[in-house]
Amino acid sequence: MSDRHDVIIACDFSSAKECLDFLDRFDRERPWVKIGMELYYAEGPSVVRLLKDRGHSVFLDLKLHDIPNTVKKTMRVLSDLGADMVNLHAAGTKAMMEAAREGLGDSAILLAVTMLTSTDQIRMEDEIMIHAPMEDVVLHYALLAAASGLDGVVCSPLEAGKVHACCGASFLTVTPGVRFADGEIGDQIRVTTPAGAKELGSDFIVVGRPITQATDPLQAWERCMKDFCGS
Ligand code: C5P
Repeated sequence: MSDRHDVIIACDFSSAKECLDFLDRFDRERPWVKIGMELYYAEGPSVVRLLKDRGHSVFLDLKLHDIPNTVKKTMRVLSDLGADMVNLHAAGTKAMMEAAREGLGDSAILLAVTMLTSTDQIRMEDEIMIHAPMEDVVLHYALLAAASGLDGVVCSPLEAGKVHACCGASFLTVTPGVRFADGEIGDQIRVTTPAGAKELGSDFIVVGRPITQATDPLQAWERCMKDFCGS
C-alpha cells in the first residue's frame, strides 16, 4: 500500500456554479475532487483550470477508450490542463495504455478502469462474451495496466488487497463504492465504509453522495478523512 492516502470527492454536478457553491462550504479546506463526464462535457477544460486555480487536486474521470493514436493525442491535450489524475479503460488493450502513457508523460497519475462495478458476471459473459471469473478479469487487467506503465487501477475496495499482491504495494488502488455504516447505499451494490476500505488496502477512496448530499458536507468529508486517513 502506498503512503498516498486521500479522500476524493466525486463532484457529480452539471454546472461549475453548482460545483463551486458546494465547494464554498469547505471554507479554507481544499479536498481532492473528481470531475466526471457530466461536469466536463457541460463546462469544458475551464472547469479543471478553475478548480486547480482554487487549490484542489483534480481527478479527471473521462475513462478514455479508443485507438492508441487517438488516446495518445488526447492524453497530450489533457496533460496541458494540469489534472493530477486521469483514467482510461483497460479493455482498450496494452497498446492503447502504452500510447496513453506516452501522450500524458508523467504529468499526472494514470489509472485504468478494470471492470465497471455496474457490470456483473452474467452481463460480462452474455453481453461482452468474457467467460473468466470477474476477479480473474480484474486482476488480469490490473497486471496489464502495470505492464503498460500505468500507476494504478480503479477497482472495488474488495479487490484492492489482491491487486496489491499481484502488482506491487506501490501500484495504486482508487476505489468508489464507499458508504458510512449508518448511511444510504443508493444504487451502489458492494459497499464498504471508509475504515473498511482502509483495512482492505485502498489508497484513495472516491466518495460522492455521502458527502455531496450530506446536510453538512464539510463534516461528512472530515469524518471520511478521519476514518480513512486518520487525520
Ligand atoms: O455517489 P457515489 O459515492 O456512489 O459516487 C461514486 C462515484 O464513483 C461516481 O462519480 C461514479 O461515477 C464513480 N464510479 C463508481 N464505480 C465505478 C467507477 C466510478 O461508482 N466502478
